[in-house]
Amino acid sequence: MKLMRDTMKNNKVYYECFGCQMNAFDLEVIKGMMLQDGFRSVSSPAEADVIIVNTCSVREHAETRAIGRLNDLSRHKNVLLAVCGCMAQRMGESILELVPGLSLVAGPDNYNMLPSVIKELLDSGGRYVVADLDSSLTYPLFPQVENKRVSRFLSITRGCENYCSYCIVPYLRGRVRSKMHRQIIDEINMLHDNGAKEVTLLGQNVMAYNSSEIDFIGLLNLILSETEIERIRFLTTHPRDINSGVFELMADNKRVCPHIHLPFQSGSDRILKIMNRGYSRSHYLEIISSARAIKPDLAVTTDIIVGFPSETDDDFNETLDIVEKVGFDSAFTFKYSPRAGTQAFGMEDSVPREVKENRLEILNNAVGSIRKKILERLVGSIDEILLDGTVKKGENHYSKGRTPHFRNVLLENGSFSDGDVVKAVIDRLLNYTLYGKEVRRR
Ligand code: SF4
Repeated sequence: MKLMRDTMKNNKVYYECFGCQMNAFDLEVIKGMMLQDGFRSVSSPAEADVIIVNTCSVREHAETRAIGRLNDLSRHKNVLLAVCGCMAQRMGESILELVPGLSLVAGPDNYNMLPSVIKELLDSGGRYVVADLDSSLTYPLFPQVENKRVSRFLSITRGCENYCSYCIVPYLRGRVRSKMHRQIIDEINMLHDNGAKEVTLLGQNVMAYNSSEIDFIGLLNLILSETEIERIRFLTTHPRDINSGVFELMADNKRVCPHIHLPFQSGSDRILKIMNRGYSRSHYLEIISSARAIKPDLAVTTDIIVGFPSETDDDFNETLDIVEKVGFDSAFTFKYSPRAGTQAFGMEDSVPREVKENRLEILNNAVGSIRKKILERLVGSIDEILLDGTVKKGENHYSKGRTPHFRNVLLENGSFSDGDVVKAVIDRLLNYTLYGKEVRRR
């Protein structure tokens, strides 16, 4: 398919993103690169000369959805269609057969060449596949941003070497590498100058961060002393590598938000062993109790898998027991699905689908009722809400924002702006949504 047009005229790019926060960050990086090379974003595929779709491979369902969407988008004629992300890395050339309209397939370590290759393909009309892993690569965040936001992601590590037996990520994102601490400080200051009030530091396991002997706690201290960013969050942490210094920092400095996302996956030591998670249920509970001894109001969220191969009712009850004991603010819950290329793929997927579904329902009810109790206790309390947009509910408009504990709150619409930190009293809870009224604006 030869696109008979002058390249720079063909500079309108439409983006779509599937998957996790790391993918959302990678798309920011890609947009920055493309912008720097003269491309500009458009908001609909119909206006675009180039369509870039960032994909996820964490479950089969995520890939099926992406393939369907890519074929959908390939009906836009005379448009260069490109796929990147984890599915591009896992499937490589084979995607070209599934999506005939595709011109470019690029894995997560190959984005630096995107603008130049896209320009070439716009000229030549060819097809190109690249899925090399590069265990030294980290991406800079580009200064040009098309839309300023109050809350920004910033990846500090890439890759993972934990090899949890159900997980495909280490095979698709390669070995762990850390971004230089000096670069991170510069980028956070750049984001702050561009209106950001909150930064979420991203990594498959941020505790693995290490740059010239500066570990994650060292990095947080640098960010506290060398930037003015108001709120610092981080995602995700592996229980095996936890450093309690992070809770001491939360206790000493309210800029480090008192929330941690700490996936435990299963409450059964036998299952944790065959998941290759590297910790026991008692170790996980110890982390939480020592953390709460340092920071009593710590909010904890988590990830849980049900129906892992050979999981028994007893194993599942041990998972429910952890949910009871910890009291999670919320949890991402999943039915186990086998992933080709992972160690667990060789295990018999022995838990019937109905049992998985039944356990997931029981688990979601347990997590939901605890979450409700936590939110109910907040009615009447006062907290600082960082505002980041508006939302319409019924006939009413609300400003939406988050507390330092990562709880969403809607404020009756006042003359607020994005980025305002509003002191508000939580006056009611509807389903899982907290509503508040301004007490005093800072
Ligand atoms: S820590 Fe485990 S689950 Fe998380 S990305 Fe690494 S291998 Fe996957």
